[in-house]
Amino acid sequence: MELQKRISGRAVHIGDEEYESIRHSMAWNALKPDRRPELIVQVASDQDVVETVNFARENKMKIAVRGGGHSWCGSSIRDGGILLDLSRLNAVEVDPEKRVAIVQPVVTNREFARKLAEHDLAFPFGHCPSVPISGYVLGGGLGWNIGLWGVACFSLLALDVVTADGKLVRASEDENSELLWAARGSGPGFFGVATKYYLRVYPLPKAITTSMLMFLLDNLPEVLTWVEEVAGKLPPFVELTLLFTSAPPPLADQCKQVCIVVATAFADTAHMASDALSPFESCPLENYVMRDLNAGTPFDVLFDTINSLFPEGKRYAVDNIWSHAQLATVLSTLRDQFIKAPSPHTLALSLILPPQLANGLQMPDAAFSMIAPIYVDCSAIWDDASQDKPNIDWIRSTIQALEPMGVGHYVGEADLPAHPSRSARSFKQLNWERLEELRKKYDPAGVFHSYLGSE
Ligand SMILES: Cc1cc2nc3c(=O)[nH]c(=O)nc-3n(C[C@H](O)[C@H](O)[C@H](O)COP(=O)(O)OP(=O)(O)OC[C@H]3O[C@@H](n4cnc5c(N)ncnc54)[C@H](O)[C@@H]3O)c2cc1C
Repeated sequence: MELQKRISGRAVHIGDEEYESIRHSMAWNALKPDRRPELIVQVASDQDVVETVNFARENKMKIAVRGGGHSWCGSSIRDGGILLDLSRLNAVEVDPEKRVAIVQPVVTNREFARKLAEHDLAFPFGHCPSVPISGYVLGGGLGWNIGLWGVACFSLLALDVVTADGKLVRASEDENSELLWAARGSGPGFFGVATKYYLRVYPLPKAITTSMLMFLLDNLPEVLTWVEEVAGKLPPFVELTLLFTSAPPPLADQCKQVCIVVATAFADTAHMASDALSPFESCPLENYVMRDLNAGTPFDVLFDTINSLFPEGKRYAVDNIWSHAQLATVLSTLRDQFIKAPSPHTLALSLILPPQLANGLQMPDAAFSMIAPIYVDCSAIWDDASQDKPNIDWIRSTIQALEPMGVGHYVGEADLPAHPSRSARSFKQLNWERLEELRKKYDPAGVFHSYLGSE
């Protein structure tokens, strides 16, 4: 029977009038993949998901799942088969007593934060407000307050999954635990459709506070000496990031690019926050070109800041690397690449993790297994299609230059087509092998696409 008759949502075929505009809307990135699924299915219920999976299996069609379409490399847009779009599934329930939220896939970070704030609760939301829980949590989830709340997928207590045989099952520590193991980090290679996430939530920090110092990029060596010293002193509830970006207009005659050191304290009182951020106030470097200390930054403000750095409507090529090397070695190499970036909108950021998280010893066993003290994430950002090649070449050569210092990648933000090994290198070897064994067990006929670039 035709799929449209089996579902309450909508099935759009290649060739239908609205197909091309819907296909375009499936990717957040303005750099749209040149790939065309045969059928785009916008499901309206869990039962629609079951019907679509059964239809695909019966007709030997492959499925690519789409949550909010924020994958930088457009992982859910494949050639042929079905694109299963979950964007209509966007409800949230909160149980404040149990500190658990039950979330459908396409609830954005901002929506989730506002809903939880009604109960004075929070979650390790991703940094950008429009990213949904869907692919963010499955990929691992490097979010706000990572030092204290950890990688987001470890707050995934259970999930509802439609498996390749069309069954809707609960996966938790007690039942179908292998599926929970995989859902915690397999991201764009998960072999099922997650329709509900049961998430542990946390008391909302009452005094989220940010301090930042901006330096000319030419001063990087001394900045890094100071940052290395400071990083060891910050408590885990302070998130420390270095950002390379173009100089803001008032500084453009002094330097083309700047380095911004930002620390956000997820504290409960203003006193606790200013105490934790005091190394910024007492920074011995006097050559900063801008400084903002102890600014109140509730989640909405944090989200707005990130939104301004990653505006919608631009073309993006993004990739990343985890490194155990010395901060100065990694970031000097990054600087040498950054100054060659073809677009002035380009950004590079480096998240410095507290040692107790970075050594991975506190992480439960799960697919998510690649982590290191330094996370470098580079974003080539530009407007004009004629600049696609130089920007994509730049991101690829930048990550290549960092490779000798790298231990692996973060699958949730990886440029998967860059190299066939990109997905495998986003996991520890044993975890990758187990993931591939589980894929064979739960999806023997390959109903779901595996990682983009690896098939
Ligand atoms: C502006 C921006 C900022 C970002 N910031 C962060 C950040 O701070 N931290 C971070 O960790 N990541 C960040 N990301 C990356 C983001 O978390 C991933 O791209 C994630 O996949 C987005 O979720 P999505 O549902 O939109 O993914 P989609 O693009 O919809 O899907 C990507 C893939 O994930 C899988 N998938 C998604 N949902 C499901 C599901 N329900 N069931 C089964 N498989 C599914 C599918 O294989 C799919 O191909 C950012 C991305 C953008 C564009």
